[in-house]
Amino acid sequence: MNASFTVKGRGRPKVKLKKNALPTLEYTTNGFALVGGRLRLAKGVTIPVVWSRELPSDPTSVRVYQDNLGHWYASFVVQREAVATPDPDLPGIGVDWGVTTTATTTNPSFDLPHLGHRRRCAAELAKAQRTMARRRRPKGHSPSKGYLAAKRQAARIVKKAARQNTHDARVWAKTVVDHHHLIAVEDFKPKFLTKTSMARKAADAAIGACKRELVDRGKRAGRKVVLVPPAYTTMTCSGCGERANHRLGLGVRIFECPACGYTAGRDLNAARTILATAERDRASADDVRHRIASFRDGGSDAV
Ligand SMILES: [Zn+2]
Repeated sequence: MNASFTVKGRGRPKVKLKKNALPTLEYTTNGFALVGGRLRLAKGVTIPVVWSRELPSDPTSVRVYQDNLGHWYASFVVQREAVATPDPDLPGIGVDWGVTTTATTTNPSFDLPHLGHRRRCAAELAKAQRTMARRRRPKGHSPSKGYLAAKRQAARIVKKAARQNTHDARVWAKTVVDHHHLIAVEDFKPKFLTKTSMARKAADAAIGACKRELVDRGKRAGRKVVLVPPAYTTMTCSGCGERANHRLGLGVRIFECPACGYTAGRDLNAARTILATAERDRASADDVRHRIASFRDGGSDAV
């Protein structure tokens, strides 16, 4: 047995079977048509659609799929107009990811507080899961109606929290992108935290989803998005560019520069260092590339 499978309390990963996968159907131009707001599929099936938004152009393909709650969705592939070039007068922003505050930025009015939708409904979810456990039949027996109902309830709670996280992340990312031309993002790798006790909180903060949303929206809006590796960002002074000799302990919330005496919140200092790293880089705009945090070598023109 592979040692990497022995994750505490989780057991071996389940093998997903195609026959148990949720249904999904794909149609290209000849396989579907939109008739009076309804979706007509091959073999004369016509489905009423609740539209979430207007399609910007005629769709070239559609994917019809069902989620774990039994709801059906139709996802269209469409063409979109290219966006206008960004206003160069807009300021830049640095973004540092964290667990207590999901995103700390160089401008506190754009900070994203911890979302925590999953934690808020944890009690409700635990209740549904207890009901599931109580109603579970022994192995080999088909599950009872009550068990399936409780399972569905648990899935509904999880889905709701996930949707709220997505929604909040989108709203936040849109505001940030609308007001900045340069977006310097800490290149957070969720892998760092998965094996620590922070894992649940980190997952709840939905950092990965927020980052993806911000980078995608920034690129789409023609902004310069720079991913800055997180190495040394917390221990580099954003005042003078001096890097401290020691890593800041996780409990230390205030950064204090031994060289120049500059003091700032730990995350705020990191966000400023991230922005300075990105600004220092003289690479062409509209380019998402990985950069080394070479703040120290860059000279003295600090922000
Ligand atoms: Zn300093």
